[in-house]
Amino acid sequence: MSDFSFDHSYADLPESFYHPSQPATVPEPVLIKVNTPLAEQLGFDLEFLNSAEAIDFFSGNKLKFNAAPIAMAYAGHQFGGWAPKLGDGRALLIGEVIDKNGMRLDVQLKGSGRTPYSRGGDGKAGLGPVLREYILSEAMAALGVPTTRALAAVSTGEMIIRETLLPGAVFTRVAQSHVRVGTFQYFAALDHAEPEKNYVKTLADYVIERHYPEAKENENPYQALLRSVIHRQAHLIAQWMGLGFIHGVMNTDNMQVVGETIDYGPCAFMDTFHPDKKFSSIDRQGRYAWNNQPNMGLWNLARLTEALLPLLDKEETVAIQIAKTIVGEFMPTFHQRLLEIFSQKTGLSNSEKIDAFMQSAFVAMTENKVDFTLFFRHLTEVANGADPRRFLDLFEDAVNGQKWLDDWSETFIKDTVSNSQRVKGMQEINPVYIPRNHRVEQAIQAGMNDDFSLFHELVQVLSKPFEAQAGFECYELPPLASEEVRRTFCGT
Ligand code: AMP
Ligand code: MG
Repeated sequence: MSDFSFDHSYADLPESFYHPSQPATVPEPVLIKVNTPLAEQLGFDLEFLNSAEAIDFFSGNKLKFNAAPIAMAYAGHQFGGWAPKLGDGRALLIGEVIDKNGMRLDVQLKGSGRTPYSRGGDGKAGLGPVLREYILSEAMAALGVPTTRALAAVSTGEMIIRETLLPGAVFTRVAQSHVRVGTFQYFAALDHAEPEKNYVKTLADYVIERHYPEAKENENPYQALLRSVIHRQAHLIAQWMGLGFIHGVMNTDNMQVVGETIDYGPCAFMDTFHPDKKFSSIDRQGRYAWNNQPNMGLWNLARLTEALLPLLDKEETVAIQIAKTIVGEFMPTFHQRLLEIFSQKTGLSNSEKIDAFMQSAFVAMTENKVDFTLFFRHLTEVANGADPRRFLDLFEDAVNGQKWLDDWSETFIKDTVSNSQRVKGMQEINPVYIPRNHRVEQAIQAGMNDDFSLFHELVQVLSKPFEAQAGFECYELPPLASEEVRRTFCGT
């Protein structure tokens, strides 16, 4: 792979966009997993991936291929509070790769030590959060959700200090880019102090060139950029909702402008449905609860809009009007996408009825403490001719389940789609496997004891989430009361 070499377009931006910084050396790196198909897509060859050099590389001990690590600057609203200077405190962008599809992708080491943005932190990552991000981000990719990817996980042989001593690890993340809403906010604040710098424009031009080139055809490309970002976020959040996914820390520094899911700290998939479900230990008010995610997405996008405002029109009053119009598209776009998703999940094409159906499903699931994933999985089986017993068994009161099911079958009898089409659509959107929280925790706990077999097995099963896999039925099941994990923690 002599010609493999990192590129550095972000480093061509002005100096205030980043700080060059070197990864820390770690004592005893061990490669836990490398994502071979992704690595090959990026152009790494197998010989390198299987060599000792790969361990040095993914631990940050010895970079190569023209890697030139930088820590990116950004700000953000965290739980609504403004943090003017965050930046990559425990991550380094080592370079960009043009992959086999011609797509430019960032490769980032996470947990590789202190950077100029580390503030009081050590820049390190614990093994638990690294395994969690690996499992969750790869599961999301397999479920068809735009997401950052896991390229490698390495344990460092070093203990890091948290509430207790924990084994350290380094995660290699791949993303379409790491430009966040918070990156725009950071530069909007700098422009406010020194307007002649035009940093927001520089960043917006970079993002348009890299991610939204079609925006250049618009009379005002920045309006088109904002609109595209808003639409992608609306679609992304609708997809999360359709899977029972709760991001948990939707701060503006954790929302990418390219529309990928990023930051797998306290996120979780819910088992038993409740619209207000949240897991994150620090989300006391439920700001980022399942049902509140569109509201918070909109809130974040309003912050992005403020940052872009001077570019939307020369006249501030006109810019504000334009901004209102574009931001106003978020909720209808989100709602439309959510309806499409739930209409496929329930196998109903009757668009007038689907909203009411979706709401009645949420009420029935809440009142009867139904497992979200199994509701749709067993409904798919019922559509496919199975006895409704397993579906009804999900309900505390099967009479409620039967009532919902009667309404549902009555509607689909009047529906125009063929049953085989309906079943196919449902199978394609309703997963058999999701990364259930208790399974993720079990894999992490075993990993902490140096046993990665559960981690590997889970990653494997979740790589084909829509296919029932013989011998792995246990991964379909919700937790027993004793296994339930109610809380998740940030990866810090
Ligand atoms: P997060 O909660 O992961 O979104 O991180 C929020 C901010 O805290 C980002 O600027 C991170 O770079 C920074 N941060 C998180 N963990 C650490 C750490 N261990 N050392 C230094 N900075 C950190
Ligand atoms: Mg983050």
